[in-house]
Amino acid sequence: MKTSSPDPARQHLWRPYTQMKTTPAALPVVSAEGVRLRLADGRELIDGISSWWTVCHGYRHPHIIEAVKDQLDRVPHVMLGGLTHDPAERLAARLAALAPGDLNHVFFCESGSVSVEIAMKMAIQYWINQGIHGRTRFVAFRGGYHGDTIATMSVCDPDEGMHSLFAGSLPRQIIADLPVDADSRARFEALLDAQAGEIAGVMTEPLVQGAGGMKFHTPETLQAMREACDARGLPLIFDEIMTGFGRLGTLFAAEKAGVTPDIMTVSKALTGGTLPLAAAMASKTIFNAFWSDEASAALMHGPTYMGNPAACAAANASLDLFEREPRLQQVAAIERAFARLLPPARDIPGVVDVRWQGAIGVIEMSGLPAVESLKADFVEAGIWVRPFNNIIYLMPPFVICDSDLETLINTCLAVTRRWAGQHFAGV
Ligand SMILES: *Cc1c(COP(=O)(O)O)cnc(C)c1O
Repeated sequence: MKTSSPDPARQHLWRPYTQMKTTPAALPVVSAEGVRLRLADGRELIDGISSWWTVCHGYRHPHIIEAVKDQLDRVPHVMLGGLTHDPAERLAARLAALAPGDLNHVFFCESGSVSVEIAMKMAIQYWINQGIHGRTRFVAFRGGYHGDTIATMSVCDPDEGMHSLFAGSLPRQIIADLPVDADSRARFEALLDAQAGEIAGVMTEPLVQGAGGMKFHTPETLQAMREACDARGLPLIFDEIMTGFGRLGTLFAAEKAGVTPDIMTVSKALTGGTLPLAAAMASKTIFNAFWSDEASAALMHGPTYMGNPAACAAANASLDLFEREPRLQQVAAIERAFARLLPPARDIPGVVDVRWQGAIGVIEMSGLPAVESLKADFVEAGIWVRPFNNIIYLMPPFVICDSDLETLINTCLAVTRRWAGQHFAGV
């Protein structure tokens, strides 16, 4: 047996975005309930980031657990090629009814990145099926994040994002500044016209760019994209993988912005953080380009675990909870708590901006020196918060109660203040 590593777990389990040689040992979680993670040594942490933004109803909501168990007893999995099942059919119909506009056609897969890949394939083939060739590139935006696979890396921010290393091996896309004012809007439109014959579609995260740095933009910015796309007949793709299912206070960001895309991707909170599931949803216009007597006009995609019944049952149960429980009001309450408790962070040394929207609270620093010690301090203080780049952010489960929320925010500020006092002294 090889025993060179001090942490036996790192011999075989290769962890995400992690330098395996220098990383501190990961914390073993043995159970989870509501907003709390319980560690093997008995400590409990309030989860401030909802397990990468998924666990909107808290851990182990009984309604979801029940639905999944019931589905496991019937059909845990069955292929969707040539066969169908009620959980997927119901979920597709419900998502179509809830989504803005006529995004009525739902294609399931297992991860967010793959749903973005499918959205890209839909847009490219939309043109091919109409006999128009050469439209294979996407316009995406600085600050954006759309996934970790080869095609999705190509639409992430090429410089600030985490994928600059792969620059030479990615499809070449067209990366623009968000059209936030008259000047950037003119440049964006000029770009669309200059490369007109090559562009398959425009892709953005609506209202909040998440993993690229928790940056906010306005409904007017999306309106500008919508108008520019309409004028040129270009599909507009919203990646709602982070914003979807209530995070900004409406079920989808598109709804809050009053702008409807032609294709929309969803994942993260789709199953309430229970099982992996994602979908690319297309409008009638996009879908109609595939509706044909020609087999070759079909969308050539089909993940093995597409529409997994247990995952669909979890998602259906999650949608039940949005109907039965006051989730969006809870998000509004979280937003009010951020407005009340986050502003004092503005005088912490090193802080350059403090902002919030819906159930997202952000403290932007000039940098995060000694970030591992900051992470350890959060854990020591009983909260689970994972800063990245120069961002410390909170995205709690929507069900968090007032006192836990206050503890989470105030602890986050106190720990950050203490740590900043050591690393930004005299600045
Ligand atoms: C997380 C995320 C993705 C990627 O989803 P995975 O399930 O991790 O592949 C894509 N787009 C956005 C906006 C995301 O937040």
